[in-house]
Amino acid sequence: MPALGEFSKLEKLFEDELLRREGPFKPGERCRDCLQGSAVSRCTDCFGRQGFCDACIVQAHKALPFHRIQKWNGLFFERVTLTKLGAILAFCQCCGSNCNRRKITVVHTNGLHEVEIGLCAGASASPHFIQLLQHDMFPATIKSPVTAVTFDCLRDFHQHSLCSKRSAYDYVTKLARSTDNVVPMSTRDRYREFMFCARLWRRLQLSKRSGQAHRLEDVIPPECKSVLLDSGPICSRCPACPLPGGIYADPSYRCFSSHLSTMLLGGDGNFHLQLKDKRRQDEERSLLDGQGFFPRRDSFDEYIGLTSDTNERHESCSGEPSGMVFRGGRDQGMSVSGIYGCSCVRHSIFLPGGLVDLQKGERCVLRLIHTLYDNPNGQSVGMQM
Ligand SMILES: [Zn+2]
Ligand SMILES: [Zn+2]
Ligand SMILES: [Zn+2]
Ligand SMILES: [Zn+2]
Repeated sequence: MPALGEFSKLEKLFEDELLRREGPFKPGERCRDCLQGSAVSRCTDCFGRQGFCDACIVQAHKALPFHRIQKWNGLFFERVTLTKLGAILAFCQCCGSNCNRRKITVVHTNGLHEVEIGLCAGASASPHFIQLLQHDMFPATIKSPVTAVTFDCLRDFHQHSLCSKRSAYDYVTKLARSTDNVVPMSTRDRYREFMFCARLWRRLQLSKRSGQAHRLEDVIPPECKSVLLDSGPICSRCPACPLPGGIYADPSYRCFSSHLSTMLLGGDGNFHLQLKDKRRQDEERSLLDGQGFFPRRDSFDEYIGLTSDTNERHESCSGEPSGMVFRGGRDQGMSVSGIYGCSCVRHSIFLPGGLVDLQKGERCVLRLIHTLYDNPNGQSVGMQM
């Protein structure tokens, strides 16, 4: 490991090299490609930061449309877009100059880009939003999209949110700063559009990775179908635990040891994961209603509506905070006072539909567990809690 004292002696050299990057090209420096035009522009994303003339840097970035270009204006390197230098991102070769040109704001991992796109206007051309999808860009609207987020950016944000817990707001703020760190407010706010695309992206990834996009239920062997839910599941039941149906539905099946046909369930709650009762827009409804780990919203609301409030005791000798949270309830402006989840004890796999928002204490949890393995044929496996 290099010593800090060694760095301190050479600090000035490090500083000089960083400052050198900010300076102009050498006097008389020629374009790296054509060797004729003056070197005036450079790319901060390409390796080497060599100088190009405008025509050559546009040509060199035909397949790299979201690289950031800087041009020397006599005083400093000024950020310019490839579109300003004359680049058009053509989606097809058939239309030529007849293509449908449109300026689109593209959100990419290194910032926002104003790009002029040549959309195919041929007789067999797909709708604009499909053409964007075919070129790895997610349109923020279906009709006449003017904003798109690249697949790379959506993938990057998805990993950030899973690994570093970064919020979409922070991520978009960072993108605005990457676009213009001097006056970030000059960058157009694309938070709403980004959120729309990111939500749909996660939904589509779930569908793809769970096999539903490939119609998993059509290809899975019949004896394994009990692990799937009936309503297009995104998650599956624990494949190792005994489930109703299958061999347990066979009258000739005899089990000599009850634990072999017993599912052991465990549950735990988080009473700090609360949701404030804020006014929500229609777009904020779930895209996975009943297909994931939470039950269907309408049936759950129906059940909650049937239950009556109880006079829970405020004092608790165990110090369990759930009663305290519930006691505040809606008076404190919370619509969810916590969550409760069920998993199989042997393998720690959460049950599909096995998580609930706590709204009326813990009674709804017990009801949930009983309904999860309600077998209409009356042939249920044993369950211990
Ligand atoms: Zn050149
Ligand atoms: Zn480049
Ligand atoms: Zn075309
Ligand atoms: Zn299990």
